[in-house]
Amino acid sequence: MLHLAIIGSGPAGYYTAEAALKRWGEEVHVDIFDLQPVPFGLIRSGVAPDHQSIKGVAKRYDAVAQAPNVRFIGKVAVGRDVSIAELQELYDAVVLATGAPSDRALGIPGEDLGNVFGSAAFVGWYNGHPHFADLAPDFAGAHAVVIGNGNVALDIARILAKVPQEFEGADIVAHALDALKGSGIASVTILGRRGPHQIAMTPKELGELGSLERARPRVDPADLPPEVEDAALDPGMRKSIQHLRAFAADTPSDKPFTIDFDFFAAPRALIGDGSVRKVEVERTALVEGRAVGTGETYQVPADLVIAAIGYRTNPIEGVPYDTAAGRFANEEGRILPGLYCVGWARRGPSGTIGTNRPDGFAIVDRIAEDFPAPGNKQGRVGFEALATARGVDFVTFRDWRKIDEAEVARARDGAPREKFVAFDQMLAAAGKH
Ligand code: NAP
Repeated sequence: MLHLAIIGSGPAGYYTAEAALKRWGEEVHVDIFDLQPVPFGLIRSGVAPDHQSIKGVAKRYDAVAQAPNVRFIGKVAVGRDVSIAELQELYDAVVLATGAPSDRALGIPGEDLGNVFGSAAFVGWYNGHPHFADLAPDFAGAHAVVIGNGNVALDIARILAKVPQEFEGADIVAHALDALKGSGIASVTILGRRGPHQIAMTPKELGELGSLERARPRVDPADLPPEVEDAALDPGMRKSIQHLRAFAADTPSDKPFTIDFDFFAAPRALIGDGSVRKVEVERTALVEGRAVGTGETYQVPADLVIAAIGYRTNPIEGVPYDTAAGRFANEEGRILPGLYCVGWARRGPSGTIGTNRPDGFAIVDRIAEDFPAPGNKQGRVGFEALATARGVDFVTFRDWRKIDEAEVARARDGAPREKFVAFDQMLAAAGKH
């Protein structure tokens, strides 16, 4: 029997479990740990609440979770409740699938002003992640600035721009929907430090901005490169640029909410009086693909600023970490003997949910190469003994089922669920306290 511990129950974690089942069948025991009492990581807390079709992939993870030799162990903080060294004593292989849950810092003056958030915090807030439920962004002002030209920046701009009816069928949490209903925000500026050909936005997500009820995206035609240059782009990027060209050609409309793409615009400082009021921006030019400041500066009004500039993996004591890259130090997923990483914790926050599937299968290949014959580890029996001795009261997949049912039962009309946003609410729903 091979005993496998996977830390993190998001896409990378469940795809790794699926790959382990495919390879070893009944010859493997998989324990999937999570910090939260609920599974599925980014699917629950990262994917936009109005993108329910993407969340449908959780059904696949559900099927993996049903296997008798796969177990969910929720509400266990690896590094606090149990150390990596202890897990390595108990399991043949420990795979860190912990994602990249923390914000990268902008590193500019004014970052500590009020109403300035990183996208992990802001997205976590509207998705009901317990760590960010108390974020309380202030929507009293009229102008929001979103920094970054990736899909997360698009998600945030879209959520800020939607009217309540456009959240029908979404699992946005009540505290966020209520706050957005009273929002005074009437413009979002999306700052990109490079140009239209350097965006990291995919066509479907970009296209959605073109059909919002009260909002219209605007692009300055002068920012767009000559159309002939689009031919050199890969097909996906070419489609994205077509959307930007359509936004630039759009005739004026009476939609009152504007989403302005400001390209070649690098934020240099956030300015305010306790709370943020403006962003100081430097115009850039592309030099060998890099954004280089031109010295020309201007200010953009900003009562709310969200930096959507990428994420970092949280370090764990005793695990080698690549500070510059913001993820675990690894060679093709190998960190130390018996210790591996997968998904965003391995390669950084890139790709789609599906990118994690080949990643999961690849790490299982590595483990198989390293462990031609399993050892005599205790696996889950040993963990249970340790948890009992230490008073660690973990959550099982059966407990999650109860939480799931309770969330579905309390959903507002048309919504798939109303998430619990605090651990004690989740535990109460599971009948644990
Ligand atoms: P991302 O795709 O890496 O985009 C980050 C953006 O931030 C880039 O435009 C980058 O510009 C910019 N940036 C970085 N540092 C900056 C700085 N100091 N100042 C100004 N701009 C800065 O990251 P993401 O949007 O967080 O997305 C993470 C991953 O999740 C991506 O793979 C994304 O596709 C995926 N995702 C997918 C969906 C979907 O499919 N619906 C939704 C959300 C997220 P440079 O290019 O110049 O570095």
